[in-house]
Amino acid sequence: MLEKTINLEKLKFSELLLNGVNLIVISANEKGEITYVSPATEKIIGYKTDSLLGDNWWKHTYFSGEESELLKQKAIDIISGVRPIDYAPYDRKLKCKDGSLKWIEWRDSLGENNTYVSVGVDVTDWKKTQQKKIQSDVILKNVSSMILVSDKNGNVLFASPSVKKMLGYEIEDVLGEKWWDVTYKDEYEAIRVKNAILKYVFFNEKGAIDFSKQKIKTKTGDYKWIEWQISKGVNNTYISIGTDITNRILTDIELKKAKESAEESLKVKNQFLANMSHEIRTPLNAVIGFADLLLETKLTSEQKEYLESMQNSGEILLSLINNILDLSKLESDKLEVEEIPFDLYKLLYDVVKLMKLKANEKHISLDLIIEPNTPKKIIGDPTKLEQILLNLIGNAVKFTDEGSVTVSVKQLSSTEKFSEVHFEIKDTGIGILSNKIHSVFKAFTQAKNNTSRIYGGTGLGLTIVKKLVDLFGGEIKVESKFGEGSTFKLNLPLKKCDSKIKAKNEEQSNLVYEPLGLNILLVEDNKTNQLLAKRRLERWKCTVDIANNGIEGVKKTQQKLYDLILMDIQMPVMDGYEATKIIKNDISERVSKIPVIAMTAYSSIADIKRAKNAGMDDYIFKPFKPVELYSLLKKYSKNKSVYSPSKKNKENHSSPKNQVKTDKKNHQYVDLSFLRKETLNESPVLILLIKSFISDFEDFLSEIDKGFKRKNWKQVYAATHKIKPSIDMFGISELEPVVHLLEHKSKNEEQIEESEIERHIISCKELFVYVKIELLTEIKLLSNE
Ligand code: ADP
Repeated sequence: MLEKTINLEKLKFSELLLNGVNLIVISANEKGEITYVSPATEKIIGYKTDSLLGDNWWKHTYFSGEESELLKQKAIDIISGVRPIDYAPYDRKLKCKDGSLKWIEWRDSLGENNTYVSVGVDVTDWKKTQQKKIQSDVILKNVSSMILVSDKNGNVLFASPSVKKMLGYEIEDVLGEKWWDVTYKDEYEAIRVKNAILKYVFFNEKGAIDFSKQKIKTKTGDYKWIEWQISKGVNNTYISIGTDITNRILTDIELKKAKESAEESLKVKNQFLANMSHEIRTPLNAVIGFADLLLETKLTSEQKEYLESMQNSGEILLSLINNILDLSKLESDKLEVEEIPFDLYKLLYDVVKLMKLKANEKHISLDLIIEPNTPKKIIGDPTKLEQILLNLIGNAVKFTDEGSVTVSVKQLSSTEKFSEVHFEIKDTGIGILSNKIHSVFKAFTQAKNNTSRIYGGTGLGLTIVKKLVDLFGGEIKVESKFGEGSTFKLNLPLKKCDSKIKAKNEEQSNLVYEPLGLNILLVEDNKTNQLLAKRRLERWKCTVDIANNGIEGVKKTQQKLYDLILMDIQMPVMDGYEATKIIKNDISERVSKIPVIAMTAYSSIADIKRAKNAGMDDYIFKPFKPVELYSLLKKYSKNKSVYSPSKKNKENHSSPKNQVKTDKKNHQYVDLSFLRKETLNESPVLILLIKSFISDFEDFLSEIDKGFKRKNWKQVYAATHKIKPSIDMFGISELEPVVHLLEHKSKNEEQIEESEIERHIISCKELFVYVKIELLTEIKLLSNE
């Protein structure tokens, strides 16, 4: 840069010196004509010096005529003294010969002989960097994200002004190592994050810590969620760009909470529906059952007609309840697909046979065409497939008054394990309006407003079908022409089955009721159901004893050897699971071999698993059709005199103590579902309850130990009686029979068998070891929730 004291006069006359210096020097006379241009000018703006003399300087080197006029006038004014000279530097851009631009910094002066002299320095490069700097300063000032530049040790070299806006710190407070001291919760956390970043930037290693989202401490001590984008910079530096995502995170948390609460209310809704349908189905079962029984007696034709329509209405009501229950289960994704071998042809024949009755009544034909390439044996869920087909064929028959319904089945493609089977249900019925065709799969939708009045139905059938098809991983489509008919097309991937495996529905064909002559114990608390089942069983020449609850059931099995036990699950005093466990484990070898069949209204896989775990041999869903009960009884009557337990049963027949010893690793001893519901899943309350149960149980163990040592059976009995409800509450089903027996055995002082009591105490202790481990794990999990 030029010094202010530069001696312009000297320069003007020292050509030699000017040649060597990169300066533009011009001088002008009182008319404003250029009289001198320094040689270096050519190097800087490309014009030959001579070509710029006179007025040419003003014509060529300025971008606008106005500007050159102004500057020329300024020179004239200075020389004439109209205008005082200003020594301060000023910038003017010059047009080069090639049309490009150069920034020149000018300084004016007045020579001795009244000559105007101006000296210019080329500042183009400096100006460019300066402009860039101004630009980046503006950007850095205005970006809302924080920008940090740090060195290879993580020390912050540069922090953008937005750091103050976002976190409240002065820039100098976060430079160097200070960043890590002030913005992290503790030193340990800061080092972990810093190392993870350095590893990522300089060694390209992704560690276990996700540094892209961090909780950063602000000057006020509050925290903000910052999302970081980190990239490598020049000279061993890295650049971190941080955006404040606190609001987003808070919204996410809110959304998560809202989702959880929606899921919770869905759960409550489904539980309510399950309970309601259970409550409704039980009496309905009795209504339909008694109508069934009455229909088998002598009736006038009028009575028969009334009774049939009563039975019919009952069936409709039942199917509606079942539909609602199915839908709620499907909506809560609780329904699982079973995997059992079945005969697809037989299933299709059965479904069509059932629907033929309706079709015959309406004088329409119903045909089934199975193409030979269709696989016969399948592994899958026959009940759900049946439900899909019954719905579709049922609709086709329902909405067709003339003509035919045709069910065609064929295999589309096949792999080693799977077969893609195509089902087509085509009718010549009323058809569906084109604008309604897309909504028929939606819940409570019927194609026309008067459908329900004319044809009945609720608009739930196809919704369930669609959800079941999704569950199978298949797809369903409908094509229809209003007034001409509809075709429902269904593709399902079905698992192939080894032909040697016996299919579930193979043996049930051609069922004719024959007397069974079984000695049956019916354990059921509902009086109407007792009567209904008793009458039904007596028709098949069975003798039936009734027990009103689990305890009565257990007592009755001690007095008489039955061929079979029908066991309700939900009963007061002692439920079916508990009673079965005692029957299967604690009475006698012979009693343990009696098949126990669970009667359950809840059709969930969990219930079935629980029934099987308790030692039950089979199950039937309430309300059951006579044919279902009959085939089940027939199955077990085959083994009437020679019934020998299966391998699995043998395992279950051992004492509870032995039973505990099997499969300890993955076994779950505790079922907290009841408590979760009761506490509305509030972790702190649950933790409190679990802790107090552990301490109560430890007290109980020490009480019974003391009682046993002192032969104080009252003490043993009192402690056992006290702990019993908690065991139930915590769903520790394995402990239930043991504690029950301990209570039972210690109650009767006259008939105490010390060794037996000791065995039960040991069982309690053994089981508690596992229960406690599980409960402590649960506390840990709950604390992290
Ligand atoms: P709904 O209980 O009313 O039969 P669905 O969900 O099974 O309920 O069917 C929904 C609606 O789709 C029916 O009300 C009817 O309007 C229409 N629909 C279903 N199948 C057929 C069919 N094969 N032909 C004509 N319309 C049908």
